Amino acid sequence: MAQTRPWTGDPVWLADVLRAEGVRLVEFPGWRNRGHGDFKDIRGVMVHHTGSDNASAASIAEGRPDLAGPLSQLHIARDGTVTVVAVGVAWHAGIGMYPWLPTNMANWHMIGIECANSGTSPTARHRRNWPAAQYDALVRSCAAINHRLAQNASRTIGHKEYAGRAQGKWDPGAIDMDILRIDIQARIGVIADPAPTPRPPVPVGQFADVLLFHGSTGSQVAQLQRRLKYGYRPYAGDLVIDGIYGSQTEAAVREFQRRSRGLKVDGIVGPATAAALNLAAVSPPEPLPTADFDAD
Ligand SMILES: [Zn+2]
Repeated sequence: MAQTRPWTGDPVWLADVLRAEGVRLVEFPGWRNRGHGDFKDIRGVMVHHTGSDNASAASIAEGRPDLAGPLSQLHIARDGTVTVVAVGVAWHAGIGMYPWLPTNMANWHMIGIECANSGTSPTARHRRNWPAAQYDALVRSCAAINHRLAQNASRTIGHKEYAGRAQGKWDPGAIDMDILRIDIQARIGVIADPAPTPRPPVPVGQFADVLLFHGSTGSQVAQLQRRLKYGYRPYAGDLVIDGIYGSQTEAAVREFQRRSRGLKVDGIVGPATAAALNLAAVSPPEPLPTADFDAD
């Protein structure tokens, strides 16, 4: 059943709505407890290819040595089997922007679908090397999710539409997103009372690329720790400047957010918190890893 208010929190209904849409569904062991924390309001679906025709659902659930899973919530095999691997946030979107998404924060707002596919090439015609069963399952999965959220197909986007400029992503390759959206909308039909398009985020200029959270590492994290330690001694004076965003750093960020007007207390340093901290940017920003195995 569709709903008219934005859904906030984990999509515990994923398996049910997909099954109801007629997809052949596999529930990966433990999917209801897997995720990098909880979703915020879910704004739509982001489509990816894995970069390999044979990438397994387990590889999306478990991740790889340099990037812990889950790497998306759903995996679609070439035979059309859809596997739900996670209910919580997954690392699939990385750095990017789109009009109704907060910059660099799509992981907390978008359900990711990884299709086992090489992507053929950035210029391949629509659906080249995409078996009918896999494409049909993709259309059904996007339609099921959008419909559950009272969204039209405009809320399904490709990784290349979000991150193309920032990361050079071209997935899903050989998928014309406009044609995909037409096919999804045909399955959704008419939604009488669609969810309103989220308000575009406030531009944040030089801080647009900042996204740091528990598990982040590097010189930008060290810069954050330095700023907190010396600027906010009463609660951050004990911070160790080691470039590792651990529990101590997260606690200091939360405290800063709690004391700052208009910030969400989520322990994540996105553009708004970075701007409030007047965080000095370490350039160039270190790209966030994502689930795509392609070399681009
Ligand atoms: Zn991708």
